Amino acid sequence: MTYVVTEACIRCKFMDCVEVCPVDCFYEGETMLVIDPAQCIDCGVCEPECPAEAILPDTSPEAGKWLALNTEMAARWPNITSKGQPPADAEAWRGVEGKYDQYFAADHGAKVD
Ligand code: SF4
Ligand code: SF4
Repeated sequence: MTYVVTEACIRCKFMDCVEVCPVDCFYEGETMLVIDPAQCIDCGVCEPECPAEAILPDTSPEAGKWLALNTEMAARWPNITSKGQPPADAEAWRGVEGKYDQYFAADHGAKVD
């Protein structure tokens, strides 16, 4: 079992999660973070820390698509171990639906606007 980051993270990236992960298994894309399922020790510490409620256990019914995405992108994006600066408009994107289709960027340096 692992935890995964979902669409709710897109354009928020508050990054409270990376501060608490004991095994540093978060990876940073341009618009969201992902967890490397192979590294995650399933401690669950990050889930309540995420203000966007973007982190789910892979046992959750909504986790399937996100498990595949987390696995793929963790292999491509750089590791992140400390909290950075969230986007200035992060709060405005909290809870917005359909962000994946509009704003997901697979390449680390891709523009989203
Ligand atoms: S705390 Fe939540 S919204 Fe913020 S970067 Fe981590 S998973 Fe994404
Ligand atoms: S569940 Fe634990 S090990 Fe897995 S990403 Fe969250 S804090 Fe890290």
